[in-house]
Amino acid sequence: MPQSPIGNRPSEIGASAPKGLGFISSALAAPVSPAEAALRPLSFADFTGQLKTVERLQVMVGAAKKRGEALNHILLSGPPGLGKTTLAFILGHELGKAVRVTSGPVIEKAGDLAGLLTNLEEGDILFIDEIHRIPKTVEEYLYSAMEDFRLDIMIDQGPNARSVRLSIPRFTLIGATTRSGLLTAPLRSRFTLQTRLDYYDRPTLEGIVRRSCGLLNVAIDDTGAAEIATRARGTPRVANNLINFCRDFAQERAKGKITQPVAAAALELLEIDAAGLDEMDKRMLRVMAENYRGGPVGMSTIAVAVGEEAETLEEVHEPFLIQEGYLQRTPQGRVLTAKGYVAVGLKPLGSEQGSLL
Ligand code: ADP
Repeated sequence: MPQSPIGNRPSEIGASAPKGLGFISSALAAPVSPAEAALRPLSFADFTGQLKTVERLQVMVGAAKKRGEALNHILLSGPPGLGKTTLAFILGHELGKAVRVTSGPVIEKAGDLAGLLTNLEEGDILFIDEIHRIPKTVEEYLYSAMEDFRLDIMIDQGPNARSVRLSIPRFTLIGATTRSGLLTAPLRSRFTLQTRLDYYDRPTLEGIVRRSCGLLNVAIDDTGAAEIATRARGTPRVANNLINFCRDFAQERAKGKITQPVAAAALELLEIDAAGLDEMDKRMLRVMAENYRGGPVGMSTIAVAVGEEAETLEEVHEPFLIQEGYLQRTPQGRVLTAKGYVAVGLKPLGSEQGSLL
């Protein structure tokens, strides 16, 4: 089955993970490597977790196959590294159809979209990552493509301008987004299924760590897998990155096998703490506590103070910090919780004004 990527997307495992402030964000934005592509589950049977989403998708695949029709359009949302791209490929595999991959910002004009769509075959999947970043002018063309499988494209300019109608094969659009709130209502309403991926729980992530180590021939015991899973912030792609670094560490500083003490020491070296927080997470929390009395404070202000793009903080760091209860989002801005103060060694405001523990 052909699975030819049209555009590039950021993702996947880097050979030697960079150390320092942005470990998590660089882990989640590193370029695709064949090593991690090889770790992608290819079928639902290999894909653990996300039970509700998987069941919804299986129902749709089963029905589409029975009717001999293209799968309806699907929107997958959730933080990076949880398996949105993987699921798109699994759907292609289950349906025996090609998956073409592109991303919102790559489709700059209607002509780019026309090029993608007219190259599809009946039933193929077009996967658009970061679909919330598709330009508005292109988005409007997507509506008729999704609904009526046609594109009305304007060619030429001025007095010669005319509209040409292109028929396109019945395809399936799988949109992926880390920011479903930024999608416009008309686009969102054209997806039959909108489903959200959540962070993985620890036992599931432990299973994913063991599976990846098996595929990569990495020696690890159960205690090592548990340690990596604990610090991988519920994210398979982060877990895969941590495995890579722990493997290097085990080879250089231990006897080659990833055990709990080896994994713990390796991840300390990467400055990823026992709860999975990295230096950038901590910096955000510290800035909020020390400079803004715990908030409310806007994300762009935090971004300037920590020296990172607001978008990266919002997509990569904030969802985990909120989910784990370090931060809250209020209409006035972000607010640090008591747990957030404690995570950076400070007393919550109100006890002694954010003083050192
Ligand atoms: P997203 O598109 O949401 O950013 P990906 O689909 O690229 O995430 O997933 C990143 C990597 O994590 C994949 O290459 C795959 O190896 C791994 N992965 C994701 N979900 C699972 C899962 N449920 N089971 C095993 N590995 C997974």
